[in-house]
Amino acid sequence: MPESLLQLKNISYSYHNLQAETPALSRISFHIDVGEFVAIVGPSGCGKSTLLSIIAGLLSPEEGTIIFHNPDGSLHYPKIGYMLQRDHLFEWRTVYQNAILGLEINHMLTPENTEYVLSLMRDYDLYKFKDQRPSELSGGMKQRAALIRTLALNPQLLLLDEPFSALDYQTRLTVSADICHIIRKSGKTALLITHDLSEAISLADRVIILSKRPATVKRELPIRLSLSGDSPLAARNAPEFQDYFNLLWEALSDEKK
Ligand code: ADP
Ligand code: MG
Repeated sequence: MPESLLQLKNISYSYHNLQAETPALSRISFHIDVGEFVAIVGPSGCGKSTLLSIIAGLLSPEEGTIIFHNPDGSLHYPKIGYMLQRDHLFEWRTVYQNAILGLEINHMLTPENTEYVLSLMRDYDLYKFKDQRPSELSGGMKQRAALIRTLALNPQLLLLDEPFSALDYQTRLTVSADICHIIRKSGKTALLITHDLSEAISLADRVIILSKRPATVKRELPIRLSLSGDSPLAARNAPEFQDYFNLLWEALSDEKK
């Protein structure tokens, strides 16, 4: 029985301003197991980014609890890596200097850690660009560099908020496959928000479908593809793929009515 890293219980959240209250999340409960790759899909504006901010500890839930189970049995907040739609690389630093930025800030620039960053750069075709500026890289390479910067700090949980949505379709397919490969190979637990249903099915072990705002968990769909040992691109050809797609499509179409 896999152990869960994270458990959300009845999480609710509303935004408040002088004019109005905007309920964003309503009694959200789910868990994520250690090493699992979970995708969240839901209508635009339903509360997905709000949910990630709560998991990251940037917002406090109004109601409900989040429980983290650390491997050593302690209950401290785990190290979280956060990756956004934009890469947020700094142009005044080289690609390598960007990749080690988190290590630098956290006083973790050990030979071991820098070697890990360099090995990731070698594995994912960034090594020969390491002394160039971010603007000299393609969009896909920038996202890979941003992921390496995130992984350098060895987070226990990766939160990915639509990290591919600024990329064109072709790049998106290859970069999402690469990034999925990096995450799986490193054995990380990951939570990906995406509005691309095919992406969710081809990358994730489980898809959580949220309702329109205020978001509730509408359905959870475990994904088992017979071609899952292959790349996410190949997984799109699995015979089960279309059935999963239709299930997700119907669940989301209900929400748009
Ligand atoms: P999603 O990521 O699913 O598109 P968000 O979590 O960003 O949705 O936002 C959920 C809802 O909360 C939206 O209706 C949005 O307008 C509202 N919202 C988001 N941030 C704020 C804020 N800082 N103040 C008020 N309302 C907000
Ligand atoms: Mg969002």
